[in-house]
Amino acid sequence: MNFSKSEELFKEANKYIPGGVNSPVRAFQSVGMSSIFASKGKGSKITDVDGNEFIDYICSWGPLILGHSSEIVYKGIEKVFEEGITYGLATEMEIKVAKLIVDAYPSVEMIRMVNSGTEATMSALRLARGYTNRSKVLKFEGCYHGHSDGLLVKSGSGTLTYGSPTSSGVSEDAIKNTLVGQYNDAKMLEEIFKIHGKELAAVIIEPVAGNMGVVPANEEFLITLRKLTEEYGVVLIFDEVITGFRVSFGGAQEVYNIKPDITCFGKIIGGGLPVGAFGGKREIMEMLAPLGSVYQAGTLSGNPLAMLLGFNCLTYLKENPEMYNKIEQLAIELEKGMIEHIKEFKVEASVNRFKGMLNVFFTGEKVQTFEDVSKCDTKVYEKYFKLMLDCGILLPPAQFEGMFLSTAHTKEDVEKTLEANKKAMSLL
Ligand SMILES: *Cc1c(COP(=O)(O)O)cnc(C)c1O
Repeated sequence: MNFSKSEELFKEANKYIPGGVNSPVRAFQSVGMSSIFASKGKGSKITDVDGNEFIDYICSWGPLILGHSSEIVYKGIEKVFEEGITYGLATEMEIKVAKLIVDAYPSVEMIRMVNSGTEATMSALRLARGYTNRSKVLKFEGCYHGHSDGLLVKSGSGTLTYGSPTSSGVSEDAIKNTLVGQYNDAKMLEEIFKIHGKELAAVIIEPVAGNMGVVPANEEFLITLRKLTEEYGVVLIFDEVITGFRVSFGGAQEVYNIKPDITCFGKIIGGGLPVGAFGGKREIMEMLAPLGSVYQAGTLSGNPLAMLLGFNCLTYLKENPEMYNKIEQLAIELEKGMIEHIKEFKVEASVNRFKGMLNVFFTGEKVQTFEDVSKCDTKVYEKYFKLMLDCGILLPPAQFEGMFLSTAHTKEDVEKTLEANKKAMSLL
């Protein structure tokens, strides 16, 4: 496969844009390639600037649950361009989107729109602190909640819960109130709460982690977390930026049947435009400005264009709930096939799947924690990624990211993917 135009553009991009990209994972660094530059997408397929066509499992990292360039999502877009794409005033469509989300999530009584997942989690934490009058928050290793300072933390060496920054430029001060726990470790959770429970404003978690590959929380862990947060008066924040409207219309909280106090959204709810949102109990949400004392704002928050695309996307999913089953069935087919090939060619790998989200981990062991994830052989992933790419399958260009399917993916796409997978696994 020829990537000469992409390579040229990547060189050019590097002159003007740090690393040639506006978000690090697009640099394809962890698979040892230069960026692929996209030129168009339709349905389940992406075409790059060299004219290569791929079955796409990135789907813009989650938002494109109806596939690329969906006419369903774009419906009415011309009218917005005619009438105005932003006013700095309230519009009716904001109510419609808010109502769709509130109706779908019993834990969400009110919702505020923002422009990214990062903003949603950052604002949710401020709100939780304002509501509880406490400072500390707990996050879990391997969960990603955007790039705000206080959340760029990993567990430090030796100590149980205090972490160190994962980025330079993040001051010790910015993270001194962030504790880091181990995902799926209920026993550790009890210990953390015994020591810090009364100082905690919030716990933030991806109920199905999607940023260390796909690692679902085990049910007992989430139940313990809900119980402890209630007991200690701590705000439980589910970061459903990926899982919201993806693993089911009601998100991971519907699947697990656990009600958080605040939920963060993003990705799917913008239909591919930059959107985030956070919502929860009325009593908490009413602390937000202009009603309450917690300040939060956004010039383009809830803008008509993003709201229309989000509305179209969510309305379609609501009216076609069988789509979730369809996506899951395709994911199950992929999982089955991949496991078969892993066995056939004795590859040290395992597959994690939750509903329609899945990925292959290159470790022989079952992956349930961040520690398990860390055992993966990323060099093998790099080889696998390139072999798949050569067969026209675009996987996430990093071992620790999930594959995303859309309603546009077909049985034939899955068959082609498994053919490629068989070949790739045989050559690893
Ligand atoms: C993508 C993501 C975010 C950040 O969203 P952005 O729109 O990229 O800022 C936050 N949390 C989770 C779980 C995500 O997957």
